[in-house]
Amino acid sequence: MYLSRFARVRLGHFPTALERLDNLTRHLGGPEIWIKRDDCTGLATGGNKTRKLEFLVGDALAQGADTLVTQGATQSNHVRQTAAAACKTGLRCHALLEQRVTNMGDAYSTSGNVLMDDIMGCEYEERPEGLDMNAEGEALAEKLRTQGRKPYFIPGGGSNTIGALGYVACANEMVQQFDDERLTVDAIVHATGSTGTQAGLLAGLHAMNVDIPVMGVSVRAPEDKQRANVHRLAVATADLLGARGDLPQSRVAVDDTEVGGGYGQPTDAMVDAIALLARQEGILLDPVYSGKGFAGLLSMIRRGVLTKGQRVVFIHTGGSSALFAYGHLFSRQTAPTRAI
Ligand SMILES: *Cc1c(COP(=O)(O)O)cnc(C)c1O
Repeated sequence: MYLSRFARVRLGHFPTALERLDNLTRHLGGPEIWIKRDDCTGLATGGNKTRKLEFLVGDALAQGADTLVTQGATQSNHVRQTAAAACKTGLRCHALLEQRVTNMGDAYSTSGNVLMDDIMGCEYEERPEGLDMNAEGEALAEKLRTQGRKPYFIPGGGSNTIGALGYVACANEMVQQFDDERLTVDAIVHATGSTGTQAGLLAGLHAMNVDIPVMGVSVRAPEDKQRANVHRLAVATADLLGARGDLPQSRVAVDDTEVGGGYGQPTDAMVDAIALLARQEGILLDPVYSGKGFAGLLSMIRRGVLTKGQRVVFIHTGGSSALFAYGHLFSRQTAPTRAI
């Protein structure tokens, strides 16, 4: 793929493991389910933003930045990984945290990712829900610039073409693993939010002429909007790569049936999916993204969209730190009636 022409810093442990879920596959009676362990990228409890940040922070350093500025929801995994990347590369980190979830209790605003932001010395300010958060972030960067700092602004989720290169690299890495294991793969499934993960995967697969379907399980936007947003970034990323040929919108598959009450709002299917994978395989998902993503995979199996003879790869994008912000859903003391 020749990604070495782009500035990059090493932040994570790669390649991440690709593992077959034997217990779960047996429990469900097929399809054969594999998991790509991007929860184990090694950066301050890991997750999918680490791959994006390798290119984004590489670009920031190439531009002589001294401060990373970004934004996310209060329990943002992206902000936590950006804070860690800043520590590791000797930069400062300023973040804006949007109060997008306000009904989750005290732990939501103090524990999980927020606690880790505090430990890593990330400076953050809160913002009420509903503002244009990227515009707020640009304004903060501008303010820091007038104070003599050299800020580098990273959009929410690290989702621009440079960040998406991280998932071009992941597409490359997975196809290499499929080839090493002699695996044909019928579908790749993962949670989609700010779009960089799915866009990067699609751009990377397109550049390699690999047509494995990639199903994004939306955690926020309705299907049409998410498909359009993923497609726009995938095309721009393919352009940055210089990939030949069109990347049609028909290549972008999104399932929005797991969103429930909205971003960060729990669903029963999410709680059940987290309990199932934990108890079958000892792997912890998260309540905002991968739990809903995995619930989407289970629902596709139930609906016959994915069938017994097939092989499917779920990308675990991380986020288990946020479990501590949602502990009331899982604790045997506070949630005794759920399936878990
Ligand atoms: C950010 C995030 C996602 C979504 O990835 P996008 O590139 O924003 O679509 C999925 N899972 C976890 C755990 C995340 O933190």
